Amino acid sequence: MLDHLARQLAARDAAHLTRRRREAATPTAPRQTVDGVPRLLFCSNDYLGLADHPAVIAALQEGAARYGAGSGGSALISGHSTPHRELEDRFAAWAAPHIPGARSLSFGTGYMANLAMVSALGIEGAEIFSERLNHASLIDGVRLSRASKQLYGSLDELRAQLAASTAPHKLIVTDAVFSMDGHLAPLPALLQLAEQHKALLLVDDAHGFGVLGPRGHGSLAHFGLRSERLVWMATLGKAAGVAGALVAAHPTVIEWLIQMARPFIFTTAAPPALSHALLTAFDLIEGPEGDARRAQLQALQQQLRTGLAPLCATRGWTLPASDTPIQPVVIGANDAAMQVAAGLEAAGLRVPAIRPPTVAAGTARLRITLCADHTAEDVDQLLSALAA
Ligand SMILES: *Cc1c(COP(=O)(O)O)cnc(C)c1O
Repeated sequence: MLDHLARQLAARDAAHLTRRRREAATPTAPRQTVDGVPRLLFCSNDYLGLADHPAVIAALQEGAARYGAGSGGSALISGHSTPHRELEDRFAAWAAPHIPGARSLSFGTGYMANLAMVSALGIEGAEIFSERLNHASLIDGVRLSRASKQLYGSLDELRAQLAASTAPHKLIVTDAVFSMDGHLAPLPALLQLAEQHKALLLVDDAHGFGVLGPRGHGSLAHFGLRSERLVWMATLGKAAGVAGALVAAHPTVIEWLIQMARPFIFTTAAPPALSHALLTAFDLIEGPEGDARRAQLQALQQQLRTGLAPLCATRGWTLPASDTPIQPVVIGANDAAMQVAAGLEAAGLRVPAIRPPTVAAGTARLRITLCADHTAEDVDQLLSALAA
């Protein structure tokens, strides 16, 4: 077995598919010491710059002092605590205008939340309709479920699949903001289809939560959606700057997850201090500071796109429409994308190249992500390095 694995790894390496971790020695921020070298990063998902926010750090310290380092058990045995409940209540209140009577449940990571939701709601006899661009955690949830599955790439395709389905229980699953493209799913149209076919609509708001919608309340607020068929998932390691995830849904759905979702039941609850820190992050997200940080992100997005447009035109690159901090530059060939990323790295910038199979063949790209702590000078530096 060891020889076999070594040969497989060597083959991947020969195909330039080997990935490695970089080691940061300083807090998450646009300027970080990575592998011992100072770098300007355009690759973190800490969109609002809360991971290194003094108030969030202080709340984490206070949370540890009050509630200890670890939760000591799974949520159903001994791990559930006051800050977990407070955070769930807070999220349920954000969800309530969009999901009448919403209840909420917290998870250690977004990956676990998606695995839990999709596997537990994909009951025997159900059919899951999953967008092709969905995150790996949703795909893995489908694999763990007992439901049959359909993949769709457009509303028309989904409409036809729903019309043809005879399954008594239906589940539509989608990212709200597609993580490699930055564009939004057509949530209002998806919800209309869900209503029409009595399906649940699971919305993974990993990249919309904190960034989109009034007060940063996310994609459901952005579109002004309202339905008891919505199941809303937000990750807390991205715009919220900490770690974890929350799901809000109709109380019956939440109770089902508590009773049935194995990735919820059989894992140690996250440290309560994290929930305590997240309550402060939520204050920042929905307060004036969150508004200011979102306005800064908008300004940076504008500046970046304005600067990229002529560059893309001369190089034959494309700049897909995106009104989020995820701004991909599609280069096309794998080698070309890798070369540009290596050139940026040599200039002290870190922008990852994303290649197939993560994205479609022939659409290798740079995935630029912005943070409210970036300055206009940082974006200028990226644009000059790309031009060079
Ligand atoms: C990051 C991400 C997740 C997983 O969340 P974690 O908290 O990092 O485990 C799920 N869905 C999408 C779309 C993501 O981008």
